[in-house]
This record gives sequence, C-alpha cells and structure tokens, in this order.
Amino acid sequence: MLILLSYRTYALPTPEYDVTVVGAGISGLAAAYELKKKQPDIRVVVLEARDRVGGRTYSVNMRAANQIIERFDLGGQWLHSSQWQIVNLLAELGVPTFPQYAAGSRVTQFPPSNKITQIDSRPGTFTQIQQSDIQRIEALLADVDFEGALTNDARYDLWNRTTVSAAMNNMNLSQETVDSIDGLLASHFDSSSQDMSMLFFLMALKSTGMRLTVMLSAVPNGRRIAGGSQTLADRLSNSIDVRLEQEAVRVAIESNIVTVTTRQGRQFTSKKVIMAIPPVIASEIIFSPPLPQEKMALLRDLRPRGDDIKFVATYQSAFWRAANMTGNVQYRADDKRGIQANYEPISDVVTFDTTSAFNSPALVGYYIPSREYEPEEARKRAVLNIMARLLGNDMARNPIDYREMRWDSSVPFNKGGAGTLGTGQVPHNYAALLRAPSNGHIFWAGTETATEWTSYMNGAVQAGQRAAAEVLQQSQTVNADPIKALLTLPCSLFGLLCSTSNAS
Ligand SMILES: Cc1cc2nc3c(=O)[nH]c(=O)nc-3n(C[C@H](O)[C@H](O)[C@H](O)COP(=O)(O)OP(=O)(O)OC[C@H]3O[C@@H](n4cnc5c(N)ncnc54)[C@H](O)[C@@H]3O)c2cc1C
Repeated sequence: MLILLSYRTYALPTPEYDVTVVGAGISGLAAAYELKKKQPDIRVVVLEARDRVGGRTYSVNMRAANQIIERFDLGGQWLHSSQWQIVNLLAELGVPTFPQYAAGSRVTQFPPSNKITQIDSRPGTFTQIQQSDIQRIEALLADVDFEGALTNDARYDLWNRTTVSAAMNNMNLSQETVDSIDGLLASHFDSSSQDMSMLFFLMALKSTGMRLTVMLSAVPNGRRIAGGSQTLADRLSNSIDVRLEQEAVRVAIESNIVTVTTRQGRQFTSKKVIMAIPPVIASEIIFSPPLPQEKMALLRDLRPRGDDIKFVATYQSAFWRAANMTGNVQYRADDKRGIQANYEPISDVVTFDTTSAFNSPALVGYYIPSREYEPEEARKRAVLNIMARLLGNDMARNPIDYREMRWDSSVPFNKGGAGTLGTGQVPHNYAALLRAPSNGHIFWAGTETATEWTSYMNGAVQAGQRAAAEVLQQSQTVNADPIKALLTLPCSLFGLLCSTSNAS
C-alpha cells in the first residue's frame, strides 16, 4: 500500500492524447487520418487556428448562373493524375474529381509587340525552339539532389543567388519559353520569375519527378476536385477530432510529455506532436526546450514570396467556349510606364476556365497588382477589362459574382501563398534539416517538408503521411526493444508515461 501511495505521489500525469497535430490544412489532416487508419485506437487531436479547416485550400460560396450558389477555389486548385498520394486519398474518401476544360485556343498579349495573339494549341504541344529550351533546363536537373543534403557545389551557390528571371536571361531562352515559364510560376506557385530563386525552381521541379513539358501543360491537363479543393480537408476532418480556433503558441516538452498551449488558453498534452503549419509560422511559436538554432533560422528564412492575387468571376454563360476558346489568357503590361499610360493598375494576368463540376460557368485567374494601394474595385475593373479585350467579348466585364484573395505576408496563419523561396534562402543542408524530427518528440509535416511535389497539395498529403509513419515507426521501435519494453511494464501497471524519447 505504501509503495502504491508513493507511486501515486511521484507518478507523472498521463497525457490526454498520443499525438497532437498542429494545423488542419491538408497535411495535418492527412497525418491524423493516416495515424487513425494505421492504428485505430490511437488518440489524436488536431488544433487549428482558423474557424475552418483546409488552410491554403479555400473554397468560397459564390453566386453562379441560374441563381445557384457554388463553391469556387481561391487557393490550391489543380491536381495532376500522376500525383498518386492525393489521387489515392481522394478515391479512398469517395471525393470525385473532373478534368480541366482545355478545348480551343488560348490568347496572349506580351510586350514589346503587345499584339493580341490567338494560339490554336493543344495542351502539351511545343515549338521546336521551346523543346530545345526545355531540354537545356532539364539538363540542369541532373545536378540537383532534392532528397539528400545539397552538396557544397558552386552551381548550387550560383542558382541560390540567381532569380529564375535572371537565369532565363543568362541562358538566352526564347521569349515564348520565358512566357510559358512565367505562366507556370503564376499558376502553380502564385509567384513570379523575379521573385523565385533558380535553385528553388529546380528543386521544386525535381520533387515532381515530371518532365518540364508535363509541368507546362499541367493546368490544361489537370483535374479539379468537385465542390472545390477544400472538400478534401472537409471530408478528412469528418472522422478526426479537430479543435477550431485553437492557435498553438507554445510547445513545451517536459518529462516526455508534450504540452501545446493555445492563444485561447487551452492546454493539450500528448506523447508526440506533428507540426503541420508553414515554416515561417512555426518560427513564431515558442519551443521549450528551444529548437536547434540552425533549424530555427531555416524556419524563419522560409518566407513565402510573391503577392499575387487569385480571383474568380462567375458568368451566366461560358462565352469563351462558344468562341472555341479555352478561357486561358496570358497578359503582361509593357512596363510601369505602360501601365500608367493605360491606366491599368495590374500586370501579369493569367486566366483559366473554372466552370464547376455542375456546369456553372466561371473563369479563374491570377494577377500582380502594380500599385500597392489601388482599391479592389479599380483592380477588378482593370482585370475584367483585360479579359474582355483578350477574349474579344464584353460579357467578361459583367460577371454575376467576383471574389479575390491576396495571398501575401498579411494573411494570418499563412503569411504567404504557395510557399516558394527567393534568392539566398536555401542552405546546403536544407532538405534534411527541414524534415528532421526535433527534440525527440516533434515531427514535421506541411507541404514545404515534402520530398514529392513540394509546395503542392500532393506534397501536403505526402508530407502528412510521412510524418505519421515516422511517429508510428518511433513507437514501434520502442515496443520492439525488449529492454525498453521491460522498462515500460511497471510504467503501464502504475499509469506512468512510458518514454519513447529518441532525440535528434
Ligand atoms: C493561391 C494558391 C494557389 C495554389 N494552387 C495550387 C494548385 O493549383 N495545385 C496544388 O497542388 N497546390 C496549389 N497551391 C498550394 C497548396 O494549396 C498548398 O501546398 C497546400 O494546401 C498546403 O497544405 P498544408 O497543409 O501544407 O499547409 P496549410 O494549408 O497552410 O495548412 C496549415 C494550417 O495550419 C493552420 N495554422 C497556422 N498556424 C497555426 C497555429 N499556430 N496553430 C494552429 N493552427 C495553425 C493554418 O490556419 C492552416 O489551416 C496553391 C496555393 C495558393 C495559396
């Protein structure tokens, strides 16, 4: 009796959960789902700062044709059938996808000629000049090692210091290749070639395992999630204990128990924690004990670049389809003076058809606002005017509904969009450092930590599944260790926490 009492006196509290996941974007939810799938009795809680799940997938209700309300995407949107992690997960959850509309011609207007050109091209067809440019870029990939630590190679340093725009200039690429890569960066990364480092571009490309030709036609050859991309997070969260409006501000480890404290004043205790939030946000959380200095510096540096605005306009009819157009336009203003002269406070407009799975016509696009404080109404008028001009139809000026979202550093809980890196932001041990578990109990998910399709929704799924596997693997290693198993026996008998510490 005396022995039992003394055990009670010194017994450490049992954590409420096995795993706390911070962040209910696709990655955090995929991690929690995977943990429960592999070990149904595991106790998992997901903490989300916002009042909704989905993070950078953001599907909003808009008024559409025939007076119905439909969800359209202001965040992550397109999938590719080769992205097997997300494709399999959607199939498992019974979430339908449908093909991107891509029939007809696309329209461009670029300086210096500023000629409106209609190109009757099928997705994935390239001129000979483009093909040779693409081969030269792909040849650079042979020297990029995404999986391991980057070697201390002069080439990495050079690419790390060079923007994509400068690199394309140095390589003397044709204007048509430059234009299509600019379009890719805007539609895939919410970023521009002036903003992204060549090293990040090559690393991101390498992580897709795809030919650049496939990437350049990924949107027209892509698929979309019925009901909007946020449907994936909504569906995942159905079977998971998610606590909304719980913003993690402190992660403390003491006596092998992780305590996550939220701004709202709640505390969640667990054996392990998976951080599934953008790196720059993770750098704002207080860790006790602190994260290794090198890791902290990297998290702080991984600041997403670019401040593109994504917009959706819904219409009564798909007038572009009737004119045998895909709805894809690409426009670049001449330069700042050109913009002033034309009174167009925006540049680099890219649009695509985003008609819903239920056939509500709509166009989606990106643009760069050229005057920072332009009111939304003026920007909206400018973007719709450009679309009307390039699509050759005034109907573009009169959408039923229009919504836009600026993914810049002011967005709480993301502080940016697709998460690309500028020059000088990638240390040599980037990949290993980013993903390595910390302080024995902290695991890292989030698309930025993915080894496949980093920065994409698929990367978010892959990273979440990998972090879940790491957590399970660590507990299995402990259980398989006969000495540790023996040591855990009295712990479990008397309700003590059994340590699985494996600090790195
Ligand atoms: C405009 C835009 C267009 C894109 N287009 C595409 C596309 O076409 N195809 C594609 O594959 N990808 C696209 N992406 C990228 C894709 O959306 C992201 O890669 C993916 O959604 C990231 O998921 P995640 O779970 O890693 O991060 P997030 O979605 O950022 O999830 C992190 C979650 O953590 C929460 N959080 C943050 N801080 C805290 C805290 N302290 N406590 C608790 N919770 C916190 C956030 O609120 C968020 O819900 C696009 C992104 C943007 C912005």
